Amino acid sequence: MQQLIDHFGRQINYVRLAITDRCNLRCQYCMPAQGIEIAPRAHLLTFKEMYRIIRVLTELGVTKVRLTGGEPFVRKDIIKFLEMLSFNDLLETINITTNGVVIAKHITTLEKMDKIQNINLSIDSLQKEKFFQITRRDVFSEVYQTLELLEKSTLNLKLNVVVQAGVNTDEITDFVALTKNKHLAVRFIEEMPFNGKGKRETQENWNFNRILQEIQTQFELQEVDSEKSSTSRNFKIDGHQGSIGIIPAFTRTICNDCNRIRITPVGTLKNCLFDDGVFNIRDFIRDGASNEDLKNIFLSLVKNKPANGFIAEASRSKGNVSESMSTIGG
Ligand code: SAM
Ligand code: SF4
Repeated sequence: MQQLIDHFGRQINYVRLAITDRCNLRCQYCMPAQGIEIAPRAHLLTFKEMYRIIRVLTELGVTKVRLTGGEPFVRKDIIKFLEMLSFNDLLETINITTNGVVIAKHITTLEKMDKIQNINLSIDSLQKEKFFQITRRDVFSEVYQTLELLEKSTLNLKLNVVVQAGVNTDEITDFVALTKNKHLAVRFIEEMPFNGKGKRETQENWNFNRILQEIQTQFELQEVDSEKSSTSRNFKIDGHQGSIGIIPAFTRTICNDCNRIRITPVGTLKNCLFDDGVFNIRDFIRDGASNEDLKNIFLSLVKNKPANGFIAEASRSKGNVSESMSTIGG
């Protein structure tokens, strides 16, 4: 089987597919209050196109896909799409990242789909009022109910917590405390400037080390081995059922082992979160590309994956990163 291997010898076996740019929340760090300019519906990849892209990629060694967005569960018929994707015998794992607002009713269906094993639930505060302030929507109860249902389900649950200076940094240890009696992994993510307007005005820099130090004020952490391509460094605490991870998303110390590419809702291939898109696969498909054409284009595009996120950012043609994470797929 031909494999997707870049100039640095990194093998790509993981795709993050943003299935929509629409979202039912307006998180401060992701988009402005009025939302972002969404793509016309006809510009979004159809589920058939997505299925075909993933099928071709799995024929090139991809085994794992993460569905993200925007909010994946606001796209109509997502459950049908998950069933469709499950038919791909070369695909081993389908993970999903969600804000959890509307998924409670789907959890038992998701549990029945063998390939779906991991759900990442984004929740940045355990306080109703602050949750509202961050997301600009009053849906804390719905999201917390999802958290509890997922924790009791057969699915592995990871919480994504974007660390926002002066907003939720006082809750870092509360999130860690959640792991005492709950089977879940809390993952703290460094905030990045993908918020639809560019750099955020913050005086404090809550990077990996600072987050680690804050946790260590109250807990003794033991680092555990992580998968080579893991985006997080992971830790256990004696007597806790759950675990902790910290994702150096902005300091980018994880690029050497990167195994992923991204596909945006309008079908743009991104070799790196920080590049500005290298090719539009949707247009290529709509212009009549065969599966063989698709394979060849993927093989050649992936070769040029930049060494790391700093190089990708420096080579952008559209200037500094500022687009919303919901148009990229976080
Ligand atoms: N709507 C879904 C959700 O929120 O989980 C999926 C899409 S969201 C863009 C994926 C992840 O990206 C979420 O965990 C979110 O917190 C994270 N994210 C969004 N904007 C970010 C930023 N500026 N810096 C760091 N993480 C960000
Ligand atoms: Fe929506 Fe997720 Fe962005 Fe929040 S982080 S606005 S939930 S896409």
